[in-house]
Amino acid sequence: MPPEGQPVEPGAPDPARLGLDDEFQFYCGPELDCFTRCCQDVSILLTPYDVLRLKRALGISSSEFLERYTIVGRTRQHKIPVLFLKMDPETRRCPFVTEAGCRIYPHRPWACRMYPLGLADPQHPGLGGQRWHFLIKEDLCHGHRQPKRYRVREWLAEQGVEPYELMGLPFKELMLSDFWQSGREVRPEQVDMLLMACYDLDRFRRFVFETSFLQRFDVAEERVEAMRTDDVELLEFGLQWLRFALFGERTLRLRRGHERGRIAARRSEGSS
Ligand code: SF4
Ligand code: SF4
Repeated sequence: MPPEGQPVEPGAPDPARLGLDDEFQFYCGPELDCFTRCCQDVSILLTPYDVLRLKRALGISSSEFLERYTIVGRTRQHKIPVLFLKMDPETRRCPFVTEAGCRIYPHRPWACRMYPLGLADPQHPGLGGQRWHFLIKEDLCHGHRQPKRYRVREWLAEQGVEPYELMGLPFKELMLSDFWQSGREVRPEQVDMLLMACYDLDRFRRFVFETSFLQRFDVAEERVEAMRTDDVELLEFGLQWLRFALFGERTLRLRRGHERGRIAARRSEGSS
């Protein structure tokens, strides 16, 4: 498991809201004097789908990816474990940046695709249920001085953001659950469950197939077969399992005979 990092400071979004058809001035390319400057000393939050894509692109296991390239942090308010790309400890550069640019560019994380756009989340408490983008302007980035203009929706399409957003929805729901806002202490074994099912899919696959897991849960045969080889299917299942195991939601069905054990376990949790 990667080392734990510093708590996460949630950023305050720029009040200048951009809708999908609003334009902004920006261009990024290797001819700019700032090329790759943005790939160092930066906090890049990784989503489960980012990790899935990156470990596949690098041809390594999820456990190896987590060990080599990530660091665990906590959200400041609710202490939810989240994952960050680990910068080189000496140069503070991203492990994937080269003189020629990003060496995993077709598989780069969601945060790298979005830049220089930020996203204000509609479900985040205090944002009034609205969703908008905003421009991130940093002195190091000279892309804002270029004459090219984009509509927000053009930028998102060009950067291939859509599959990341779709795959991110169930993860976002998990992160925004009332469970975290209850202030309840999250036990170390619960943290491990979350990190395994969200990010360490190869370990989660062994947990599903090499323990009594499938004797306890009633999962359709087709789904079980898909999960043997399909990481996306396994991730979707893992997020459902976390809602069941952490929040007590009925997102999965227990086989007959295991329901009673679950009720007893929840009663004893409630009385402790
Ligand atoms: S993943 Fe690629 S684009 Fe993102 S910071 Fe690293 S080198 Fe830059
Ligand atoms: S600093 Fe801005 S313009 Fe320069 S490479 Fe990074 S994103 Fe592109």
